[in-house]
Amino acid sequence: MGEISQETVEKYLEDHPQFAKAYFDRKLRGEAAGEISEPGGAQAPARASFPGLTLMEEAALCLELLEALREEAGSVELAAHKALQRLAQLLRADRCSMFLCRARNGSPEVASKLLDVTSTSKFEDNLVVPDREVVFPLDVGIVGWVAHTKKTFNVPDVKKNSHFSDFMDRQTGYVTRNLLATPIVTGKEVLAVVMAVNKVDASEFSKRDEEVFSKYLSFVSVILKLHHTNYLYSIESRRSQILMWSANKVFEELTDVERQFHKALYTVRTYLNCERYSIGLLDMTKEKEFYDEWPVKLGEVEPYKGPKTPDGREVMFYKIIDYILHGKEEIRVIPTPPADHWTLISGLPTYVAENGFICNMLNAPADEYFTFQKGPVDETGWVIKNVLSLPIVNKKEDIVGVATFYNRKDGKPFDEYDEHITETLTQFLGWSLLNTDTYEKMNKLVNRKDIAQEMLMNHTKATPDEIKSILKFKEKLNIDVIEDCEENQLVTILKEDLPDPQAVDLYEFRFSDFPITEHELIKCGLRLFLEINVVEKFKVPVEVLTRWMYTVRKGYRAVTYHNWRHGFNVGQTMFTLLMTGRLKKYYTDLEAFAMLAAAFCHDIDHRGTNNLYQMKSTSPLARLHGSSILERHHLEYSKTLLQDESLNIFQNLNKRQFETVIHLFEVAIIATDLALYFKKRTMFQKIVDACEKMETEEEAIKYVTIDPTKKEIIMAMMMTACDLSAITKPWEVQSQVALLVANEFWEQGDLERTVLQQQPIPMMDRNKKDELPKLQVGFIDFVCTFVYKEFSRFHKEIIPMLNGLQNNRVEWKSLADEYDAKMKVNEEKKKQEEGNTTEKGKMESVLTSCKVAESQAELNLTTRA
Ligand SMILES: [Zn+2]
Repeated sequence: MGEISQETVEKYLEDHPQFAKAYFDRKLRGEAAGEISEPGGAQAPARASFPGLTLMEEAALCLELLEALREEAGSVELAAHKALQRLAQLLRADRCSMFLCRARNGSPEVASKLLDVTSTSKFEDNLVVPDREVVFPLDVGIVGWVAHTKKTFNVPDVKKNSHFSDFMDRQTGYVTRNLLATPIVTGKEVLAVVMAVNKVDASEFSKRDEEVFSKYLSFVSVILKLHHTNYLYSIESRRSQILMWSANKVFEELTDVERQFHKALYTVRTYLNCERYSIGLLDMTKEKEFYDEWPVKLGEVEPYKGPKTPDGREVMFYKIIDYILHGKEEIRVIPTPPADHWTLISGLPTYVAENGFICNMLNAPADEYFTFQKGPVDETGWVIKNVLSLPIVNKKEDIVGVATFYNRKDGKPFDEYDEHITETLTQFLGWSLLNTDTYEKMNKLVNRKDIAQEMLMNHTKATPDEIKSILKFKEKLNIDVIEDCEENQLVTILKEDLPDPQAVDLYEFRFSDFPITEHELIKCGLRLFLEINVVEKFKVPVEVLTRWMYTVRKGYRAVTYHNWRHGFNVGQTMFTLLMTGRLKKYYTDLEAFAMLAAAFCHDIDHRGTNNLYQMKSTSPLARLHGSSILERHHLEYSKTLLQDESLNIFQNLNKRQFETVIHLFEVAIIATDLALYFKKRTMFQKIVDACEKMETEEEAIKYVTIDPTKKEIIMAMMMTACDLSAITKPWEVQSQVALLVANEFWEQGDLERTVLQQQPIPMMDRNKKDELPKLQVGFIDFVCTFVYKEFSRFHKEIIPMLNGLQNNRVEWKSLADEYDAKMKVNEEKKKQEEGNTTEKGKMESVLTSCKVAESQAELNLTTRA
């Protein structure tokens, strides 16, 4: 073997690539590269791009890096760490670091990711875990400056550089003298800043170092870009999945806001990439209901002074939905959450609801402004780390709720992409709310409702012939068209045909509609308006009054109980309370007029089923009104009638008077919702207490009339007294009406069984009809007695109602006792057959039946009306 020439070697290697690779792998990998790069450790060829490296060596280095890239594709930090190790070696830098750039809350920032990397340091020691990150805004330090300017900086002496911050040095005790820092940029975006610190064998990094730095960093750049692209891709797919889902949803006809909300969040939960999130739903009522304002107006409750949403609503989370995605997936619904619930106690959701800001916080428990729970929030042992909270806004820009996301699954803080993706979601949620309870859809619904009502009106509005059946101008005046009649002529002929109030007991609490036909009741109604002298005073054209009264009658459906007869009875009782009961003294003629009219209308278009049934059957009415569903419908219907000028009995009032009437309609009709009964009970009692103590009647009148709130409360209670008045009627009447009520309940029970496939409550279960007397006694004791007792105390003229009630209680009680006795006998028999009975056992059964009676009475209350 002679001398081997360079050509021979080259040719051999070219012919045997496998050998060449294996050789250089062995020879040039890892530590070997370090030795080679030592000065003098190898020849320095002229074309070398890395200092001290031959092309061959450089190729090997690149190969190594590419392998690292392939192997560590899953972990960007691990791959970057390898690159930084080599970089420290090549540049003869004391150490290298990498900072990631991101944006939160709309501001860019840099965060430490790999610190103090040397050629031999361990990855685990250099990696900065998310909760120990050091985060800078871009206006602090050279790293921030690099990210901001997107330029490479070679700083020979940090002390002379105005951007240098010794913050990190003070924390670590390390002294930075000189450095080389460069951004890694993709497009316009800075992904990271890589920094080499303190040149080992010189006072500063050279121009040549800069070149090596930039060349070598292309690899780090590739790693980061690859990772970033992957991340963006997953963001995009998450986003598009959410959007795809959203798009589908829009076409769905939706019924219940909350159910939809819940469905939405549940569907997208896997894309949210966080350990937990909670949705706080905000009460949307801008103006409080009149019955909730009463205690404030009476000075019993302090006016609200807490935080408000930008559109002026009190910040009130009425429900929290808590989605737990770590460990065992679970969803918790917390209705009326207490203020110290872990999702609310920090004050962050309230803050977001108040300001509408997106808040992205890392290491939330350390925050000073908000007080997040520091320890585990529940038995799962889970703790809050990073929090992203944002408002859910509908198209009207009202904040309808707050979504709060906790702890990104990879442990990193939420970044701008998370902000975007959650914003997309919450935006959609806000829009979806729109489908059911806000503008566009609402308008559509209102339109639909208007159309439906218009159609209905054509059928219900009294026809000229129907009016003629009461207002007999043709027969009596021999005039063909009503327009040709004088108003006073019409009044005269109408009065002639209306029943005598005394003859039909119109002034009596004991009045019964049984002997009177439904058509005749229309005339009775007209008579009542004439009796309170409002027709002349408020210039009500009798033709309009007749048409309105007849139309109201037609507005009532032919259901078993809530029909025109019930509507009329409530009007008649209102009249009797005002006149015979002398409650009129607190009210103006206009108010009395409105109260009487509202009483006649109060159950118009009732469907013979209660509010609960509307909700359970998701009737269109339930979609329209959130609470007091039927009552709001009766109100809307009544107001719609008045919009037709030929039906507007208030047409000659001025604007302010008309507004008063509408307001009284609202209070009076909504007040018939028995679910609101408890809200007014004690307030009414206090008024009665105060009046009882007064020396003179004038004093009491002044005490009440000076305060519109007191008048409203009394009126609301009067509506209840009217609505329940059947319970005070003579026994022959009450016993029959009670059966009508019961029958309507049983019919609803049948519907629940057949349509909803649910077991009705005992009150609505016709198989338990024998329990009716017991239910009546319970209803009298738990609801009615208070109403008539207080009214009797208020005005002794009303005592007949209380007497009637107490008499009926005796009757129902004896029937209930009879039934109980019968049942007891049956039971005794059964027990005797079985053998031993103990006193304790008897006692228990008595107690149980008491409890059953009590709970039934309660049910009775909430489901009645
Ligand atoms: Zn009613």
